[in-house]
Amino acid sequence: MKSWISAFLVMCLSAGLVAAEPTSSAPLRAGAATSNITPELGAKIIGGFVPFPATGVHDELHARCLVLDDGKTRLALVVCDLLGLHRSVSIEARRLIEESTGIPPAQVMISGTHTHSATSALGDSRYVSEQPLDAYQQFLARRIADGVRRAVNALRPAQVGFVTAEAPEHVFNRRWVMKEGTAPVNPFGKVDKVKMNPPGGSPNLVEPAGPTDPTVSILALREPEGRLISVFAAYSLHYVGGVGNGEISADYYGMFCSALARLNGAKEDESLPFVPILANGTSGDINNVNFRTPRPSSPPYAQMRKVAEDVAGKVQAALAGVEWKDRADLQARFRELELSWRVLSPETLAWAKEKLPNADVPSVKADLPAIYARRVQQLSEAKNPARIPLQVFRIGDVCIGTFPCETFAETGLEFKKRSPLKHSFMVELNHGYFGYLPTPRHFELGGYETWPGTNSLEPQAAVKMLDALLEMAGDLKR
Ligand SMILES: [Zn+2]
Repeated sequence: MKSWISAFLVMCLSAGLVAAEPTSSAPLRAGAATSNITPELGAKIIGGFVPFPATGVHDELHARCLVLDDGKTRLALVVCDLLGLHRSVSIEARRLIEESTGIPPAQVMISGTHTHSATSALGDSRYVSEQPLDAYQQFLARRIADGVRRAVNALRPAQVGFVTAEAPEHVFNRRWVMKEGTAPVNPFGKVDKVKMNPPGGSPNLVEPAGPTDPTVSILALREPEGRLISVFAAYSLHYVGGVGNGEISADYYGMFCSALARLNGAKEDESLPFVPILANGTSGDINNVNFRTPRPSSPPYAQMRKVAEDVAGKVQAALAGVEWKDRADLQARFRELELSWRVLSPETLAWAKEKLPNADVPSVKADLPAIYARRVQQLSEAKNPARIPLQVFRIGDVCIGTFPCETFAETGLEFKKRSPLKHSFMVELNHGYFGYLPTPRHFELGGYETWPGTNSLEPQAAVKMLDALLEMAGDLKR
């Protein structure tokens, strides 16, 4: 016995482990799988102001699935190559997952990456909490459930670790304070203080309106013999873009996964392949463009490949520093916060009705005032409350908190700072799409992300949601 204890101590010291945290009764198991969610050609690609039909596929879209099991609790983490998914898609996918695997809906996380080269999983209206599913949404829910089921089939003994990497050179705050009165007139006929994606190198740029979050959070799972099972990473970069005309693509998220697999010697025909996953952190106000010194344009896919390869290289280097553990307590908290949809002033509504008397007809060209006149009228008919899914997972000393919105970087940074768990980070666009989520100070500054129609929730939503999420994270701590 004595020699076993000293051997254990030597092992702990040599592995650099710190005092053990409370552990679950059984060693951890993990399994991962991908499920193809590429739509039919002809389906409409969204991400720009006016959807257009897909005419080709550059790279396939996937739902990437990871399942963890500590002997008591199972958690499933799914990231889909989509601009976003409607809450009703997530509800249906989780119903199917419970039916086939027994994993309760509160223990399944399903987010979209925010690739702008996928077709819509948002359905007809963005300003409803429930909607009937169209054919693609039904297909998607089934494919997500299949992926989770296949990840369950692949469950095997696993070790877990957490590490971070810094990648500041690819993230820029895209909201710029402009010199007084120099921002162009917005679709509502007003001049904002802040411009999203301003002209590069403009002398009218004052400063970015918020911070960036340069940290890649990395949760890694491997077989005890050392072979990687999955890496679940999150980085706060909106998307990169620059695809071929009419082509479907998973953007840099997909390329990151391919690059990380390649760096780990993954082969095409493995029966239990390594499944890298890249979720979107909090990037509602972040993009890949340095507005101070604009870069020349590059051929399709070149810039996203550059970003993907570099971030994958940094994650690969960071993986060498992981302290692996055989056990991790798993917990989940899920709750739906009831918030108000954004209230529109009578003037805004009158403007919208005058601009576009028949709001039933979608715009076929990028006429911003007409597009916003339609969005405002649809938003004015939204039925309260908006049901906002919030979720936190605890995986050992790692905490993942989620919002169903395009969340600003400062919100994610605040969650990291205030969360009681040692390693915390956020994933956005989880379990639904409820538009952009500026923090209250941004409504004063204006700009695209604050316009009614891009923002659809009450102005205090970011504060109420973060408070609730932190309360849920606090509830996880022993
Ligand atoms: Zn976006």
